[in-house]
Amino acid sequence: MKFSWKVLVLWTLPALVIGFFFWQGAFAGAPADMSKNTANTRMNYGRFLEYLDGDRVTSVDLYEGGRTAIIEARDPDIENRVQRWRVDLPVNAPEVITKLKEKAISFDAHPVRNDGAIWGLLGNLVFPVLLITGLFFLFRRSSNLPGGPGQAMNFGKSRARFQMEAKTGVKFDDVAGIEEAKEELQEVVTFLKQPERFTAVGARIPKGVLLVGPPGTGKTLLAKAIAGEAGVPFFSISGSEFVEMFVGVGASRVRDLFKKAKDNAPCIIFIDEIDAVGRQRGAGIGGGNDEREQTLNQLLTEMDGFEGNTGIIIIAATNRPDVLDSALLRPGRFDRQVTVDPPDIKGRLEILQVHARNKKLDTSVSLDAIARRTPGFTGADLANLLNEAAILTARRRKEAITLREIDDAVDRVVAGMEGTPLVDSKSKRLIAYHEIGHALVGTLLKDHDPVQKVTLIPRGQAQGLTWFTPNEEQGLISRSQLKARITGALGGRAAEEVIFGAAEVTTGAGGDLQQLSGMARQMVTRFGMSNLGPLSLESQQGEVFLGRDWTTRSEYSESIASRIDGQVREIVEQCYDTAKKLIRDHRTVTDRLVDLLIEKETIDGEEFRQILAEYAEVPEKQQYVPQL
Ligand code: ADP
Ligand code: MG
Ligand code: ZN
Repeated sequence: MKFSWKVLVLWTLPALVIGFFFWQGAFAGAPADMSKNTANTRMNYGRFLEYLDGDRVTSVDLYEGGRTAIIEARDPDIENRVQRWRVDLPVNAPEVITKLKEKAISFDAHPVRNDGAIWGLLGNLVFPVLLITGLFFLFRRSSNLPGGPGQAMNFGKSRARFQMEAKTGVKFDDVAGIEEAKEELQEVVTFLKQPERFTAVGARIPKGVLLVGPPGTGKTLLAKAIAGEAGVPFFSISGSEFVEMFVGVGASRVRDLFKKAKDNAPCIIFIDEIDAVGRQRGAGIGGGNDEREQTLNQLLTEMDGFEGNTGIIIIAATNRPDVLDSALLRPGRFDRQVTVDPPDIKGRLEILQVHARNKKLDTSVSLDAIARRTPGFTGADLANLLNEAAILTARRRKEAITLREIDDAVDRVVAGMEGTPLVDSKSKRLIAYHEIGHALVGTLLKDHDPVQKVTLIPRGQAQGLTWFTPNEEQGLISRSQLKARITGALGGRAAEEVIFGAAEVTTGAGGDLQQLSGMARQMVTRFGMSNLGPLSLESQQGEVFLGRDWTTRSEYSESIASRIDGQVREIVEQCYDTAKKLIRDHRTVTDRLVDLLIEKETIDGEEFRQILAEYAEVPEKQQYVPQL
């Protein structure tokens, strides 16, 4: 049964409102307002009787059912002028009426009218009416939201939370830069299109494919492309939709989903973020989570339940394959794993080409240069980048996207929104020294990445930024490169200290310090780059929130721990000394570059190196030129 608040409230509200008007109506018609006849002075009952007997009373008005009277009488104290009094009468005083009749004094009775009581009642009403109105709106709103009380009332029925697309309209052509994954999945398309080819030779068609890769690399897109290429319907659901407040709902959703899919076979079932439901059972703080485990069991049962050749292929996506329950990964379930990596430079170029198809690019824009500038960008980042550039172009009322918009969009995607530059002040100078410090130290170190630009235009959290062109596609990083990075990161703080003194250093270096401390620590504990020797002292796994068991395992002794700290400190101190020395030795050019930066707000890498070369020897960096 559906218990509906909405209906109840809808009926209650008008009933109350109508009742309220009627109620008020009953009083509004009442005549004679006692307030008009109020008398300020009171007279006691005995005196009133005396006056009555002495024929002084001229008229009497009775109120409140005869319990109060307003009388007019001649007052002997003020020369018999007529005065008004208020008299409280005893409850049963019929003799008064008799006397009034006898003496033929005009008297009148008025019905009860109690203003104070009405206002009191109104006051009492206001609160419930407000409350009910408030509840009404609350329920109306929440019943539109998933998981709101409206939903909770309804939990018995499993709503179909999956989506079905008869035609996804996505083709393999729309997915770029992940060739290996595409090749692997090409086979799945063939399974769906021509299952006979496989069954004829006795091959069992795989049931499940697990796509593994960081967010934004195109997993969802790939799954849609498979359905699109094979021309089959696409059922999709997110793992988190299975996990509900009530035990059993997830399992019933799984059943629903598979039932619908069987009716529509051949088809693809896509389960996004499968780690939400498919984690190790029995893991986490205080054991497992019943609902999730039941859902997972149901999923496993369903996957076993249909024959391999019904033409349903389940594709699941995750970025955390390590937390998945091993039962999911065994043969007959998700027995194929396809890794979807972030694209390399060639892949980025291809993805950019796909997304540039429907955009107007100026002839000056080379996608190739953008691909070079964007190491580490995923497909989703690149799509977003081109879109941001298009938005900027429209805002600037240009005909086509130019390099400037692309550049601004990259900066924005990486570092956040642009802020307004500071006006010239002491803190602007300090920030300029800080940034020039990074750039100068980075440029003078042989193993550091080259500077791309230095800017004082704030972005996101940063007041100023120094951009380096990372040397990508060189998977391995050497010890001297790591030390160069740490030194470069310390360049900002070093400049602050050398120029303004130790007392004037600022919080601006907080982010730098955090980064470089992490690097230095990893050099010691993971990469064996200290005098502790080639030992790995910290393993990477173990976050309890991500589906691992909560066990505190210390992998080294207390004394090793303090030696680690000592080594980390030593690395950082050495690097800091190097950075400070570089700034001190190049003080003149530092000042000149700072003045230029304050004037221009941005100096690009080429100009920076040229100026620096007039004062110092700038090491030749092997600029990595990737093959396209
Ligand atoms: P994921 O599911 O891996 O998090 P999506 O498939 O949802 O990533 O990608 C989001 C968007 O990013 C896609 O709709 C598409 O526009 C773009 N995108 C991601 N990867 C690619 C790719 N390899 N080729 C083309 N576009 C991509
Ligand atoms: Mg996705
Ligand atoms: Zn800094």
